Amino acid sequence: ANSFGIELALKQLGIKSLNDGSSTGINSFSNGAILESYSPVDGKLIASVKTTSESDYEKVMKTATDAFKIFKLMPAPQRGEMVRQFGDKLRKNKEALGKLVSYEMGKSLQEGYGEVQEMIDICDFAVGLSRQLHGLTMHSERLNHRMYEQYHPLGIVGIISAFNFPVAVWSWNTALAWICGDVCVWKPSEKTPLCGIACQNIIAEVIKENNLPEGISCLINGDYKVGELMTNDKRIPLISATGSTRMGKIVAQNVAARLGKSLLELGGNNAIIVTPDADIKMTVIGAVFGAVGTAGQRCTSTRRLIIHESIYDKLKEALARAYGQLKIGNPLDEKNHVGPLIDWQAVEMYSKALEKVVAEGGKIIVPGGVLSGDDYQSGCYVKPAIAEAENSFEIVQHETFAPILYLLKYSGSVENAIEIQNGVVQGLSSAIMTNNLREAELFLSVSGSDCGIANVNIGTSGAEIGGAFGGEKETGGGRESGSDAWKVYMRRQTNTINYSTSLPLAQGIKFDL
Ligand code: NAD
Repeated sequence: ANSFGIELALKQLGIKSLNDGSSTGINSFSNGAILESYSPVDGKLIASVKTTSESDYEKVMKTATDAFKIFKLMPAPQRGEMVRQFGDKLRKNKEALGKLVSYEMGKSLQEGYGEVQEMIDICDFAVGLSRQLHGLTMHSERLNHRMYEQYHPLGIVGIISAFNFPVAVWSWNTALAWICGDVCVWKPSEKTPLCGIACQNIIAEVIKENNLPEGISCLINGDYKVGELMTNDKRIPLISATGSTRMGKIVAQNVAARLGKSLLELGGNNAIIVTPDADIKMTVIGAVFGAVGTAGQRCTSTRRLIIHESIYDKLKEALARAYGQLKIGNPLDEKNHVGPLIDWQAVEMYSKALEKVVAEGGKIIVPGGVLSGDDYQSGCYVKPAIAEAENSFEIVQHETFAPILYLLKYSGSVENAIEIQNGVVQGLSSAIMTNNLREAELFLSVSGSDCGIANVNIGTSGAEIGGAFGGEKETGGGRESGSDAWKVYMRRQTNTINYSTSLPLAQGIKFDL
C-alpha cells in the first residue's frame, strides 16, 4: 500500500519508532506510562511515547525556571532572531511536519501544510513584533515628572492544546511568548503526542545551535492529569488552554483559585447567515468548506446555516448537489476532500448527534453514515451530513465535533437571523453572506454578531494570523495570535520618575513634615 512517504517524514522529524510499539525515548525527561499514537488514517500504531510523571514534571519545571533567568535578560530583538531561525527550520520541515499532522490527526494533506504555514507566518509576525513591544507615555500631573509604561516578561507560560490543530496552536503561543521573554511548557493533546515531539525536536535544534538554555521550550506528555499539574502550579503565571468548553471551565477554576491568568480558546457553534442578497455560488463554497473541512473538526467549523426563507429551497438543493461531489478517503491522497474523524469516540458522538436531531424533530437532507471497507479500515471515516433543524434543539445548541451541518430557516428582516445566530452559548466565529451594505454593517455593529470573529462574504473558518483570534461567552474570551494579543504574555508596569527637587504628591495632597 502507498504510505505517502510517512516513514521518511517521521525519520526527518526525529521520530524513531514506527509500528514496533516500543518507547521512542525522545522525551528525555519522561518516565511515565506509555502512550500509543494510532493513526485515524489507517488505524496503525505510529509510535509510542512515554508520558510525564510527577517527578519528571518537577525536573521540567526546574529547567524552565533556570532558562527564564537567562532568557528574560536577552534583548527582545535577539529573541526575535531565535524565532526567525525557528521559522526557517519550519520552512525546511514543512513537508514532513505537514504530513505527520495529516497522518496523526487525519486532516487533509493541504490542511496539514496549511497548518505549518500558519506556524511560519506567526514566526514572521513575531520577529517584527520583537522590535515593537511598545508601551505608552503619559503626561504626569506633577511638575518635572515623567510617566510611562513598559512591558516585562511574565515567566513560564503553560500551553495546553487540542488535537485538531496539533502544531499551529502551540506556535501561536510560543512565537509570541518567546519574543516577550517567556519560556514555555507545552502539553499537547494525548491524541497527537508525536506532533508535539516533532515540534520540540525542531525548536531544540535552534536552541542548541544558539547555545541557549534548553528550558526555553519544554514538552510534557499525557492526559488531563498532566495538564492539571500545570493548572495548579503557582510557578506558572499564565495558562493558555485550547480545547472543549468542558475542559475550559475546569482549567479556569483551577487557575483562578491561585489567581493566575488564563487564556482560554474553547468550543464554537459557528453560523453563516444567508440573506436574500447573498451570492449563492460563494455561499455554497464557503458553507461546504466550513462544514466538511477537517471533517468538521475545526473550532471555527460551520455548524449552522441560517437561511432566509425566500432562498431556502434553492440553497438546500445546491448544497445537496455539492455534498454529492465530495470524495471521502485517505487525507494524504490529495484527490480526497474529507478525511477521518480523530477516533472511534468521535465517530460515536457523530452517530448519536444524527440520531438526536431526528429524535428532536429534525429532518435529514443529506444522510450520514460510518464508512467501512478496505479504504476505511480505521473505522473513523464518516459521511458529511446535513439536517434541517431548529435553533432551540438541544443538539443544535451543542458543539458536535464532526461534519454535521444544520439548516435553520428565518423569515423577515436580518435582525431575526442575527437573533438566531447569537442564540447559543458559544461565541467564536460568525459570518454573513450578503451584497446588501445595510445588512452587512448591521451584522458587524453593536446590534450584530456577538462573536469574537465576524466575517462578511467569507465563511466561518480559516482565520489569518494577523488578527486576534478567539471568542466570547463559553468560547472563553481569550485572544491569541495577531493584533495586540502579545500583551497577555507580558506584565505591564507603570513607572513615574520625579526629576524635580521636591516631592509633590498626586491629587495635590499636602503632607508637610
Ligand atoms: P479537550 O478539551 O478534550 O482537550 C484539550 C486539551 O485539554 C488536551 O490537551 C487535554 O489533555 C487537556 N485537558 C482536558 N481536561 C483537562 C483538565 N482538567 N486540566 C488540564 N488539561 C486538560 O479538546 P479536544 O477534543 O482535544 O479538542 C476539541 C475542542 O477544542 C473543541 O471543542 C474545539 O472547538 C476546541 N478548540 C478551540 C479552539 C479555539 O481557538 N477556540 C481551537 C481548537 C480547538
